[in-house]
Amino acid sequence: MDASLSEFTAAGLLLETDPDTARLRLQDEILLAISHIGLPEKYNPWHRYLRELPIDSDNFVDYLVLVEYLSRFDASSMMAMPGTSLACRAVLTLGNEQQQALFFSRYLQCPTWTFFAVSEPEVGSDASAIHTQLTPHGDRYLLNGEKMFIGGAQLASIGLVFASQGQGRTQLVMVEPHAAPQAFNVEALEAYGLAGAGLTRITITDFPVAQAQILGRELSGLHQGINALGTVFEKHRPLVAAMALGTARGLLDALDAEGIDDLASYWRCYRALYYRLLALGEEYQQGRSKVWLTSQLKMQATAFVEQVAMLLPQRLPAVRWLNMPALQKRYRDAFAFEYMEGTSHIHRLNAFRAYVSSRGVR
Ligand SMILES: Cc1cc2nc3c(=O)[nH]c(=O)nc-3n(C[C@H](O)[C@H](O)[C@H](O)COP(=O)(O)OP(=O)(O)OC[C@H]3O[C@@H](n4cnc5c(N)ncnc54)[C@H](O)[C@@H]3O)c2cc1C
Repeated sequence: MDASLSEFTAAGLLLETDPDTARLRLQDEILLAISHIGLPEKYNPWHRYLRELPIDSDNFVDYLVLVEYLSRFDASSMMAMPGTSLACRAVLTLGNEQQQALFFSRYLQCPTWTFFAVSEPEVGSDASAIHTQLTPHGDRYLLNGEKMFIGGAQLASIGLVFASQGQGRTQLVMVEPHAAPQAFNVEALEAYGLAGAGLTRITITDFPVAQAQILGRELSGLHQGINALGTVFEKHRPLVAAMALGTARGLLDALDAEGIDDLASYWRCYRALYYRLLALGEEYQQGRSKVWLTSQLKMQATAFVEQVAMLLPQRLPAVRWLNMPALQKRYRDAFAFEYMEGTSHIHRLNAFRAYVSSRGVR
């Protein structure tokens, strides 16, 4: 595992300048087994390597512990790995048998990336206001719109696009870009931190869609569109908190190694958040959804990693700090977590609304 982790850290630094070489360095069986956790076993080529890990990969708490641990070394590398994504969770939740087979079978020809395209220019946080349209056209549909800050789309052979059908109806549509490459343009975006996310802008023009590509169309309206999105995101947010917390821990370890003292209050805060992460993971493991706690933890962990990152320029001698590219890169990463899966303002609203509705207060 030590050898895997040193490759992991080295790849993280390379991702900003030479992502292709960085990804080659991430071809490690143990790391690939970890990045494919959550795939149905029959589609997971790395499943047998999971036995070598000291965790139960079906246990959500163990999974969070692993994600936090790896993020101490490099969260950006973790995002750059092929494997499970938010789209997988959506397909598992909403996809019928044919859709699941189409989507997951490509993992047997690894490496495989997938994308989950919700955010748009101007309406990032408000998924209910998206402009991307799914319009009937003969016996099919046409998909048109623009998606922004979409991770992994340049390398993906399949993904999901969140689209509106008008009158407040929204759907997740399964799209294979190579089926109509002229109608699906992916452009890489420059990122300040977390380059491993591979953020892109996607422009979709008259992309043909068959009814069979619409996820959850057999389900009741309550399980489709925006409601389905909420369910999928909710279980992913503790992972963002785990990544932010692991990054903070990695930075605290680095500050300790540099002989910076007086960090006791930061370590106390780290431990408190870590135990809250485990407690939240246990709630999900037991099938209990805690929307307000998830939002609260995501908000606190992302704010904490920014506070810890600020210690680097403040506490390290300037000449030392200016000669530490690896730490400077993780400093940049620290500020990208807040914008993953909803900003702090949105989570404050989310936490408040969920808490109030759980008490039956209006
Ligand atoms: C590393 C990374 C990976 C990502 N991956 C994906 C991906 O794979 N797929 C995807 O779809 N998206 C992805 N995103 C996009 C992310 O989900 C959006 O950036 C996020 O939703 C915020 O949208 P925005 O940047 O347009 O900000 P906006 O929504 O424009 O918000 C700007 C500011 O206004 C505030 N604000 C907005 N609405 C309100 C309100 N109602 N009340 C109070 N304040 C408000 C926000 O809190 C924020 O401070 C990714 C982002 C990052 C950083």
